[in-house]
Amino acid sequence: MTTRAHAQNPLPQSRHIATEIPGPLSAQVIARRKEAVSAGLGMAFPAIITRAEGAIMEDLDGNRIIDLGSGIGVVNVGNANPAVVSRVTEAVQAFTHTNFTTAPYLGYIEVCEALNELTPGTFKKKSLLQNSGAEAVENAIKIARHYTKRQAIVVFEHAYHGRTNLTMALTAKNMPYKDGFGPFANEIYRMPMPYPYRYEGNAATMAADALADVTHKIEKEIGADRVAAIIIEPIQGEGGFIVPPKGFLPGLSEYATKHGIVFIADEVQTGFARTGNYFAVEDENVVPDMIVTAKGIAGGLPLAAVTARAEIMDSSHVGGLGGTYGGNPIACAAALGAMQAIREEKLVDRAREIGKILHDSLTAMAAKYSVIGEVRGRGAMQAIEIVVAGSKDPNPAAMATVIKYCQARGVLILTAGTYGNVIRFLPPLVISDELLKDALGVLDEAFASL
Ligand SMILES: *Cc1c(COP(=O)(O)O)cnc(C)c1O
Repeated sequence: MTTRAHAQNPLPQSRHIATEIPGPLSAQVIARRKEAVSAGLGMAFPAIITRAEGAIMEDLDGNRIIDLGSGIGVVNVGNANPAVVSRVTEAVQAFTHTNFTTAPYLGYIEVCEALNELTPGTFKKKSLLQNSGAEAVENAIKIARHYTKRQAIVVFEHAYHGRTNLTMALTAKNMPYKDGFGPFANEIYRMPMPYPYRYEGNAATMAADALADVTHKIEKEIGADRVAAIIIEPIQGEGGFIVPPKGFLPGLSEYATKHGIVFIADEVQTGFARTGNYFAVEDENVVPDMIVTAKGIAGGLPLAAVTARAEIMDSSHVGGLGGTYGGNPIACAAALGAMQAIREEKLVDRAREIGKILHDSLTAMAAKYSVIGEVRGRGAMQAIEIVVAGSKDPNPAAMATVIKYCQARGVLILTAGTYGNVIRFLPPLVISDELLKDALGVLDEAFASL
């Protein structure tokens, strides 16, 4: 690891437990949170963070916590990565905002150039910057409809695309994302998703069978020539790190091309080196017409993008796209810093190494603990599905016990899954082997304690 952000006073990259979690100081602030902040917001880890660097977060009570979530796949380059911090510091001193459609600046253009270059596809591409993943997904759909002059959007079971009105409609899971928040946008059609661990058909022909099922439904229930876009996460994130069977994504992309449908890859969680490629679609050489990015794009600052074939991005009339903050100059500087860090710290390769450590260690645990039903994922995006021993019945209670055990010992691990029984690992890609193994040791103890 190169020099860290807090050069004068670096945060030690080691776990340290000073108090119970939450400690007394965090507990006081959490009480204030309860009074001041909407109850609609969850709290996965009960500690007030005062500082973070690399793969360690420090709380108000002096506990040092290992971060295996990266703020939900955001700080892939590590928290407060020096390249991000130095570019942000420089940018914030230059100016804080103009609105790009009022008076443009270089950073926005450089981020678009970089995205057009880094995303798969040798055709001419253009980009648009927004603030959040959901906002970028909204724009992707809006642009695809305008370009195709069609309305129907195809989405999948277990999908997660955000929490705004349109993206709630795209998202599959009712509780907690949609319950009571309707009515939802129309012209959204949900298709079956091959979920290998729970697939009941013939595993050998799963991709082909699922594809036949999806395309049959599109033709019979919507009409292929009424479909504007197919949007899919190359590996489903919130749905539980569901990796589609080989051949499914290429088949879907081919079908979209054949019928003039815009194929959109939602790489908000899978993008930016996470899976051991810059983008997850590269694993099967899938070239989407359009790709949505956010989360890992800017090392922690709010930024998101839509990148697509130039003719799609240019189909909108002037003024049809935009927004007040999209592509804010500070966030653009952060994105350029994050891309520099991915390149200089070779984080695409590092994601593969981390993936191997995670996968080997989790597979060894699965052999010992029969509540681990499956280990799956790609690169530094791995998950385990927790079941009732001897069955595939979801076991969210065992998962909660394991997570709690880890929390008390200063290891932050996120959950996911349609059935609320998946433990997912999204460590910062700058995490050291030692720190990762320390965290996995705690996880092993947690399973042993069940
Ligand atoms: C998180 C996520 C989104 C939404 O991004 P926000 O920045 O939270 O709006 C969309 N798609 C996927 C795949 C995500 O993981």
